[in-house]
Parts: sequence; structure tokens; C-alpha cells
Amino acid sequence: MAVTMKDVQFDVRDGGSFIFERAGEFRIFTPEDFTDEQQQMRAVALRFAEEEVLPRIVDIEAKKPGLMRELLEKAGELGLLMLDVPQKYDGLEQDKTTTMLITESLTRCASFAVSLGAHVGIGSLPLVYFGTVEQKTKWLPRLATGELIAAYALTEPGSGSDALAAKTRAVLSDDGTHYVLNGTKQWITNAGFADLFTVFAQIPSDKGDQFTAFLVERDSPGLTIGTEEHKHGITGSSTCPLILDDVKVPVDNVLGTIGKGHRIAFNILNVGRARLGIGSIGAARYALKLATGYAAERKQFGKSLDTFGLIRAKLGSMAAAIYAGEALGYRTAGLIDRKYHALEELSPGPDDDDFQKAVEEFTIEASILKVHGSEALDFVADEALQIHGGYGYMTEYPIERVSRDARINRIFEGTNEINRLLLAATVLKRGMKQRIPLMQKFQAISASLKKGEEPTFEPVGDALVDEQRQVHRMKHAALFAIYQAVQRYMMKIEEQQEILGAFADMMIEVFAADSAIARTLQYGDGPLASFYADCTTLTVEHARDEVFTLAKRVLAAALPGDKLATGLDQLAVLDHWRAVDVFGVRERLAATVIDAGGWPGI
Ligand SMILES: Cc1cc2nc3c(=O)[nH]c(=O)nc-3n(C[C@H](O)[C@H](O)[C@H](O)COP(=O)(O)OP(=O)(O)OC[C@H]3O[C@@H](n4cnc5c(N)ncnc54)[C@H](O)[C@@H]3O)c2cc1C
Repeated sequence: MAVTMKDVQFDVRDGGSFIFERAGEFRIFTPEDFTDEQQQMRAVALRFAEEEVLPRIVDIEAKKPGLMRELLEKAGELGLLMLDVPQKYDGLEQDKTTTMLITESLTRCASFAVSLGAHVGIGSLPLVYFGTVEQKTKWLPRLATGELIAAYALTEPGSGSDALAAKTRAVLSDDGTHYVLNGTKQWITNAGFADLFTVFAQIPSDKGDQFTAFLVERDSPGLTIGTEEHKHGITGSSTCPLILDDVKVPVDNVLGTIGKGHRIAFNILNVGRARLGIGSIGAARYALKLATGYAAERKQFGKSLDTFGLIRAKLGSMAAAIYAGEALGYRTAGLIDRKYHALEELSPGPDDDDFQKAVEEFTIEASILKVHGSEALDFVADEALQIHGGYGYMTEYPIERVSRDARINRIFEGTNEINRLLLAATVLKRGMKQRIPLMQKFQAISASLKKGEEPTFEPVGDALVDEQRQVHRMKHAALFAIYQAVQRYMMKIEEQQEILGAFADMMIEVFAADSAIARTLQYGDGPLASFYADCTTLTVEHARDEVFTLAKRVLAAALPGDKLATGLDQLAVLDHWRAVDVFGVRERLAATVIDAGGWPGI
């Protein structure tokens, strides 16, 4: 099935299908596909960040009372808080590619972006996707303008990653009119000023605890907001505990189905992850801009820093990381949008669960995006700080803040460890359930490598053929390695976290390289063609080294003594190092970045 979006025809794909497809075989959504209208919205968001947020950064970071709320309301006046809200409830009902583009544009001030993201994302989306018509009518129009601010309260002192182990209790009153909530929620973003909280709690019952979401208003008697945390980064955002002491919540405020709170919690986190991944790439672009500007101005040994080879190499590597992050990020947003539009065409209706299905379908890609984006940002921000030398360590230079703010992204919305485990387990589970053709592929690869033959490769077009071939090999290497581990550990593979982590890392590298190739092939011969091609070559080269190292480690862990040599021989059929002038590629990338004063793309 195909869907036409913005006059471009896209095939609807299933989650995880990139593992089995050829790089560039299907059109992916890329930043080059943004419409004029989307570009205009992005310009509004960027101007808001530059003119309203960044000039007040010192006050924001000092948590000047009322300031964050005032800025959110101003963002609301520009329509930046209503993108995800259905038109029926006074919103703009934009697709995910648009909301992610806006997120990306605001992340140059992470404290503000996190506050806005928590409001429009994890704060409001539970209501958008799981609320009743009455609940939506009551709150959504005011959330869309910023008159009300939302927050999401899942974490507790004893339950972070293990969110379903939450201890907050919700007991139905004798007259059946309300639930009484008791417990403590911890590290809740926006809690200092939010008006509406999605609170997760256990309802005790004969069938055991039923994990359920509730909409809790700030002025509910018994609800106390604790003091602000003192944080390492994003210091301008509000992070407080909620103490629930016999808080009465009307039964009408139960969100979604009793006992199905996990569906809300995890679906919303999936969207949050994708948003966080793209936002991280936006912050990385800002870090690149800061580093490029500084490297042009600062002189040592009578020359500006940007003439030194080791500094230029950093700029080149940073650019490639951003390119791949954008490619896989917008690809994922486009995949979700397309699936959603396709499901909508099959069963139109504003209040059904098509969007949740579309999001669930791309669990693997959303987790990859979260991990890749946050780690690409850490890499880019750290190198940008290094380019600033000692000045980068001083708070008067914005890169100091950017590098501190970057760190949180690996922790919240599911830690990167949890996302790695989740994405690896999801690939294997879908394979076992025959939702994706993993088992057939395992057998085909094994048969071919046993004969010492490379699986057949057919390039898509005649550009980047070497890169395409390497990605084809990487996919097979990753699947071959994990197949050996699956055969050894069978169902107990779940306990082999290091193997799953290595498999996740291989999938992340493969998706990044695959997406970079697809974007570059689609771009054709535009003005940035050689820059994009160089970014792709560097991404593929990096991915190849990682994937084959990891595949060997997995084999070494999974294959008993005498079988290891055979396994390594079979893997060697795919393992072809090719001489790429990485230094030359980085040098060309750096030259373009320096010319542009930062990221040269749109
Ligand atoms: C600034 C900030 C804002 C936040 N905002 C919100 C919010 O708005 N709403 C909300 O509900 N929560 C929020 N959180 C909480 C956040 O989502 C959690 O911190 C996160 O889920 C991790 O939980 P934890 O900190 O308890 O770490 P833990 O779960 O204790 O994990 C500690 C370490 O162990 C690892 N680990 C845990 N389990 C496993 C496992 N099974 N296998 C391997 N490794 C494992 C983790 O990856 C991590 O490295 C926020 C946190 C911070 C710091």
C-alpha cells in the first residue's frame, strides 16, 4: 500500500522492515521533503528560540519565578503548543514530521525545550490518544493554548526503569464516585507549575494490582508538590516530586481502561523517544554551529583553530553524525505518519486507536532514534566543547550549558540500556511470532555462508554502490551473529544482556547507515550532493567497523570452542575492509561546514 503525503508517494512499511530491505529501496521521508508550510513553521519556532528564549537564558537557568510559564504561554500564542491536538479540540492536528521539526528547532535551549516537550508530549498526549470525548473537551483546548500546562507522573523513588512496579495506590471509594490516591511520584518535569498530571497508580483488586492512569488536577486536596531538585543540566526546567496523600480523584478522571495503564505509559514513551531523538539532533546542530563559529575566531600559533587538521577532523565527524541522525530520525517520523494515514484510510474515525497502532509498529525504530540521537548529541556536544578548549568549560560560553544539558537524554524516556534491550528483544520476538521474516532470513544466511558464498547483492541505482554493498553485508553479519546466539541460548537469550546490547548496537549502526544511503540516493545531484555522499561514506565506514567487531564478540560469546573458528570463517565471507580515505572525506566535510558557518543543510 502507498500513501501520498505532500504530493509525494510513499510506500507504507512495517516496523523492522529495514533489516530485510535493500538500502534505498523504498522512499523515506527526509528533511528535503519538508513543505514550504513546514519550513515556515520551523522559521517561527527558530525565531522564537532566538528572540524570546535565548536572550533570557540566565533567568531561565536561575528558574526566575513565572518565567517558564510565561514563555510557554507565548509559545502557545504562536501555535507551538497545539500541533498534536486534534482540530476538533482547537488544535492544528499536524503530522509527526511537523511536530518533530518544531521540537528540533527549539532544542538550542534545552531547559525550555524539555519543558515544552513534557507539556505537549508526555503531558498532553495521554489525553489526546486515550481520553474520552468529555475529558478532551474539558482540558485539551486550554492545554493547546498554554492556558493550562501538563505533566506526566510515572516514576517513583523505588521504580524508574521498572515502571510497572509503581507503588502508588488508587482505592475506589465506598460510594464508587472517586478513587483515593496515595503515594509519591519523583522527578516530574513541569511539576512546579503544571495544572494537570497524568498519574499512574495501582488499583488493588481480586485479580491483583491493576496499573491505571488518572488525570489529576493540581488543586486536588491532598496533592503536594515538593521542592525543586538541583540538577546537573537542564537547570531551568522544573523537576519536583508529587506527594499524594488521600487525593480524591473522580472516577470520570480515569484515563483509558482500568488495568491498561501500561499501554498508555509505553505508547506515550514511544512517541517521546522519537521526539527526544530528533530534538537531540537539533541540539547537535546548534553545538556544531557554536564550535564552527568559535574555531573560526580563535587563533593559536598565529592561525585560526579551523585551519588545524585535528579540529577539522572533528567538524567533519560531527557533521556525519548529524546527517545520519536526521536521516534516521525523519525516516522514523515519516514511517509513523504513513502507517497512521494508511490505517486511517482503512477505518476513518477521530477517536480510534490508529495512532497507537502506528506508534507501536515502530517501537524498534523509535528506540533506535532515541539511543542514536542522544549519543550523537553527546559526541557532538563533547567535541564542540573540546574545540572551545578551556573557554568551553566556562559558564559564559553557551557550549558549556549545551554539553551539560545533553547528558539527560540518555537517562529519561527509558534509559539507553532499557531502549537497547527493548529494541533487540522486539526484533527477536517479532521474528519468533513470524511478524517479520527473521527465521527464514536466519536460515538463508546460514546456508549461504556455510557454502562460503555471499548472499546475492543487487544495488539500488548506480550511486554509492560500495556503501550499499557494505550495508548489505552488515545486515547479514548482524543476523548471522545473533542467530548463533539464539541457537545457543534459545528462550534464555533474554538473560544474555550483553549479547542483546551488541545486537541492538548493530541494528542502530545498520539503520543509521541504511538511512544515510537512502537520503543521499533520494537527494540526487542537488548542491549538497557531494557533502551528503561524504557524510554517508563516513557513516557507513564507522558502522562497518562497529558491526563486524560486535558480530565477532557475539560469536565468541555464543559459539563453544571448536565451533568458533568455523563461525568466524563464515563471518569472514562478509567481512571486507575497503580502503576509504577517511581523513580526506572528513577534510572535505569540514571545508563545507566551515564555509556554511555550521550545518549546511536545510
Ligand atoms: C531531569 C529528569 C526529568 C524526569 N522527568 C520525568 C517525568 O516528567 N515523568 C516521569 O515519570 N519520570 C521522569 N523522570 C524519570 C526518568 O524517566 C527515570 O530517571 C528513568 O526512567 C530511569 O529510572 P531511574 O532513574 O530510577 O534509574 P534505574 O531504573 O534505577 O536505573 C539505573 C541504571 O540501571 C540501568 N538498568 C535498570 N534496569 C535495568 C535492566 N533491567 N537491565 C539493565 N540495566 C538496567 C539503567 O539503564 C540505569 O543505567 C525524569 C528524570 C530526570 C533525571
